[in-house]
Amino acid sequence: MELVKLEIKGFKSFGDKVIINFDNGITGIVGPNGCGKSNVVDAIRWVLGEQKTRMLRSEKMENIIFNGTKNRKALQMAEVSLTFNNTKNLLPTEYSQVTITRRYYRSGESEYLLNNVTCRLKDITNLFLDTGIASNSYAIIELKMVDDILNDKDNSRRALFEEAAGISKFKIRKKETLRKLSGTDDDLERVEDLLFEIE
Ligand code: ATP
Repeated sequence: MELVKLEIKGFKSFGDKVIINFDNGITGIVGPNGCGKSNVVDAIRWVLGEQKTRMLRSEKMENIIFNGTKNRKALQMAEVSLTFNNTKNLLPTEYSQVTITRRYYRSGESEYLLNNVTCRLKDITNLFLDTGIASNSYAIIELKMVDDILNDKDNSRRALFEEAAGISKFKIRKKETLRKLSGTDDDLERVEDLLFEIE
């Protein structure tokens, strides 16, 4: 599976639409300090579903929308699309090319799309489970993460190995199932209370 292209519009410093094509080999992004290199990585992390604004180097989600310059008005929406080549069928879908899109409006509304069809964030995270591609996976390594891995902050080394070994998918499902079980326990308790009242 390869990255084909990244399209950014209205995200952070990208007021104009920018398309980055990932051709064969290594793609390097160079530029002076503060020109927006890290914003490209933030855009990839964001389109993969990152919810923590801290991970996007932002205080609140609204700040990821292009907020204008001296000569340009702020935009109302940020949109990022990431396209993958899936000819080897590593993603569990029949499409040979998969594009995921995330939009965020100043009103607070957000949208996710899979090949231009509206979907849930869960559909996207499920699609990429165990591929090593996720907003918090080892596919995106920032400088700060290298420090965290070396210092083993919050068990980060273990999490890395678990993702590589394909265990994290089961951990996520277990957590989800336990949450549902706890919800069912609460419902049962309520039923028992009602029965007690009726009796
Ligand atoms: P360095 O090399 O110093 O790490 P960089 O090239 O990685 O820098 P980034 O950190 O990606 O730069 O980008 C910082 C720039 O993005 C700043 O100029 C900041 O003003 C701009 N920026 C961040 N959020 C927004 C936004 N919502 N609207 C407009 N510009 C933004």
